[in-house]
Amino acid sequence: MAHVTKHIFVTGGVVSSLGKGLTSAAIALLLERRGYRVRLQKMDPYLNVDPGTMSPYQHGEVYVTEDGTETDLDLGHYERFTGIPCSRASNFTTGRIYSAVISRERAGGYLGKTVQVIPHVTDEIKKAIRELDAADVDIVITEVGGTAGDIESLPYLEAIRQFRQEIGRDNGLFIHITLVPFIKAAGELKTKPSQQSVGILRTIGIVPDILICRCEQPMNEEHKDKLALFCNVDRELVIDEPDVENSIYEVPIDLARQDLDVYILEKLALHVNSLDLKQWKAMVRTLIAPRRGEVEIAVVGKYISLRDAYKSIYEALTHGGIANNCRVKVRMIESEAIQDQGPARLLAGVAGILVPGGFGDRGIEGMLRTVQYARTRGIPFFGICLGMQCAVIEFARNVCKLGGANSTEFDKDSPAPVIDLMEEQQRVRDLGGTMRLGSYPCTLAEGTLARKSYGAARIRERHRHRYEFNNAFRAKLEGRGMRFSGICPEGELVEIVELPKHPWFLGCQFHPEFQSTPLKAHPLFRAFIGAALKKRKR
Ligand code: GLN
Repeated sequence: MAHVTKHIFVTGGVVSSLGKGLTSAAIALLLERRGYRVRLQKMDPYLNVDPGTMSPYQHGEVYVTEDGTETDLDLGHYERFTGIPCSRASNFTTGRIYSAVISRERAGGYLGKTVQVIPHVTDEIKKAIRELDAADVDIVITEVGGTAGDIESLPYLEAIRQFRQEIGRDNGLFIHITLVPFIKAAGELKTKPSQQSVGILRTIGIVPDILICRCEQPMNEEHKDKLALFCNVDRELVIDEPDVENSIYEVPIDLARQDLDVYILEKLALHVNSLDLKQWKAMVRTLIAPRRGEVEIAVVGKYISLRDAYKSIYEALTHGGIANNCRVKVRMIESEAIQDQGPARLLAGVAGILVPGGFGDRGIEGMLRTVQYARTRGIPFFGICLGMQCAVIEFARNVCKLGGANSTEFDKDSPAPVIDLMEEQQRVRDLGGTMRLGSYPCTLAEGTLARKSYGAARIRERHRHRYEFNNAFRAKLEGRGMRFSGICPEGELVEIVELPKHPWFLGCQFHPEFQSTPLKAHPLFRAFIGAALKKRKR
């Protein structure tokens, strides 16, 4: 029989931020651990072509895939939970869908026709879903962003309704994730919002096969009976997903306990192979009860008030902890607070300091003082992207005595532009999708922290930046003790800097956090947390 790729469509109801991405990733993990080859994708109903031009305050972190696509942070969950690499086909926005339709119209692709949301936009959405169909893919999970009832989600809901109609019931299913809120005054869980949300889906012809209910407390039998009856869902397919106690990595274990994956496979007429969650469960056990206690790491950034802005960084720190059998406690510090109050009190007692990425000059002086504090006090320091650039600027100013050293991003007329626009960026005018993006190779010098941490001479890491270390200053900084341990062979770009005299000081131009997973912590995060543990002992 010809290979058929099956489809799962995940929608959300009642409110946003229910953790649809997390739940989709957890389902993907379970199906993968039952031997199926899964792909994930997210549809975002906004008009930006991609999230690359949005502020982290609007959107949270921009996650970068290997092929250099700037995407929604849910793709980070997809990659961390599963071994599945995401790509350009894993995230579509309304902006991207419309721009394809409009370009085709201008090229004469619809000659003679009136171009409309139905069928032309919905066809384009269906095409985007089909992009992941392949002979080596068994199941595609498509998450529709937004909430049922939003005007902007409508074309997506219509498209997935048509899609399932075309492929047939055995080949596609609908999962709806809703909120079952606990009303304190009444002392009970309420199912009415979920019923109404399913009602909205039904008016557009979608009847969910499975209902996943996010709730603060587990539901009882009565709630489930009610939801099954009023939402037209089989009783055993009303699944509850209460808030997890310790970690998001418990979600798949909770869902498996209710046999969600078994029901999914049965609905899709696929064989129910055995489930192997051994490794995953062992990882969660270490995470919850590590043997080596706790280390505290300061993250000093400029988007601290929004937890989602550094999502992958926080996750990668957790992974570094798992690999070292310790818990990582993060002290989040706004770099402007360091500017105002100085580093001593705010950073007192931490075992390691991380300065993450960012854009624009707000808070830079605070980051520079943070670097100086870590450098002069021998506190393990990890600078990522902007964090590495700050490490270079601080060293140039305070060790090499290059007054006014800066990045031209912050001071166009700096007398010592140690960080500068890359050659190919000089001519770039558009801001969307034009940075140095995605995976590039990097060669590691022998006898360096980087080489030791990776245990390899050549690596690949993902990038998202416009500015770069200025090689005109290399000899000068090298002369005062900075080591350039990672170089991109395509163009001699500096990718990693270190201070060999310091217990652990490393900055990288790329974003290692995007390649870290709970089962396989990124080597630099593992080494950084290892160094912090040593520092704690001292
Ligand atoms: N703003 C810096 C640049 O564009 C750093 C970017 C980042 O931290 N992702 O080079």
